[in-house]
Amino acid sequence: MKTIKDIDIESKKVIIRCDFNVPIKDGNIIDDTRIKESLKTINYCIDKNCKIILLSHLGRVKEKSDLEKNNLKPVAIRLSELLDKKITFIDETRGKKLEDSVNKMKAKDIVLIQNTRYEDLDDKKESSNDEKLGTYWASLGEVFINDAFGTIHRAHASNVGIATHLPSCVGFLIEKELNALTELDNPTSPFVVILGGAKVSDKIGVIKNLVKKADQILIGGGMAFTFLKAEGYEIGNSLLDNENIDFCSQILKDHEKKIILPVDVAVTTEYSNQEEYLTKDITDIEYNEMGLDIGEKTVELFENYLKKAKIVVWNGPLGVYEFPKYKKGTDNILKYITENKIKTILGGGDIVAAATKANLKDKVYHASTGGGATLEYLEGKKLPGLEVIK
Ligand code: AMP
Repeated sequence: MKTIKDIDIESKKVIIRCDFNVPIKDGNIIDDTRIKESLKTINYCIDKNCKIILLSHLGRVKEKSDLEKNNLKPVAIRLSELLDKKITFIDETRGKKLEDSVNKMKAKDIVLIQNTRYEDLDDKKESSNDEKLGTYWASLGEVFINDAFGTIHRAHASNVGIATHLPSCVGFLIEKELNALTELDNPTSPFVVILGGAKVSDKIGVIKNLVKKADQILIGGGMAFTFLKAEGYEIGNSLLDNENIDFCSQILKDHEKKIILPVDVAVTTEYSNQEEYLTKDITDIEYNEMGLDIGEKTVELFENYLKKAKIVVWNGPLGVYEFPKYKKGTDNILKYITENKIKTILGGGDIVAAATKANLKDKVYHASTGGGATLEYLEGKKLPGLEVIK
């Protein structure tokens, strides 16, 4: 993979596709992690005397009312504070104002273009990788640097479109993500996978791909109940993915020793944080109960496998971590892997949010910034944003 150090960018006009898709409420950025993660690449380009054009999406733009709440202006302000440098924000995605600003740029100047998905209002031009749009954006610069890992699994005009027309490479953030994820291509044994989250259907590709490489797959969260149902247990009102019971049965039959299911769970009668809960063995779940977390015996069982692991990948929380009562299983395993320094890659999305909430994210070997992208990588799929650079 061509990285930023493999390409001559000295004094050039570079286009950097960043991931500034940050949560914004009432015009205020709630979490600026993604902006901070982009600084290394931007600073490197400043040091190389580049003229820097930044592009990013923010949220989804389906109708006119989505425009204002997804305006990138607050990002320009925050980025300017973090870099301690003026950022020229262009409130449009193409046109004379943008072209004039780009033509006037001097070395180390930075221009941030409005949310690329503003183009989606017009026939989804950004998200469908409209050829003309990609060509137009590419015409603004001389080199393209993709540093938006979160959209690497999509072929959009602002990544694949531009990369088709310019010498391209990945930035430091994508390089960091790939360095961690490629360790899973030929993992050192024992390789343990932890899977949780809501639905089996979202994880079928991951299970099929990783079951070939993993020594164990520890299953928790809502998806464990479809596996338990396939084993013949009463699961009450727990989350069930009816259509995938057969898939679970088959996987359990083919890989009996590899798939490790919970032995006890925290059950209650209402999906809320108010109701009292009991921890029960999986043989004792009643028809009116639902399991919302793994129990202590399961935590211990999982820790016994993790103890021996040389590398771990974890996608999806092991319980309804949004409710304080049911985040214990996830938190205890997070504590175990961080205290024992077990080399673990958190696969984006909810599990990274859970680790952040528990103040443990920075103690984990790698926490991926892209949920969907990581999942597709783990499914063994090709990522269009990378393929075009290769
Ligand atoms: P995913 O995006 O598939 O990783 O799913 C994350 C969601 O799974 C979170 O919102 C959790 O609340 C939910 N989840 C985890 N465990 C359970 C459970 N036992 N029952 C219902 N939902 C769960």
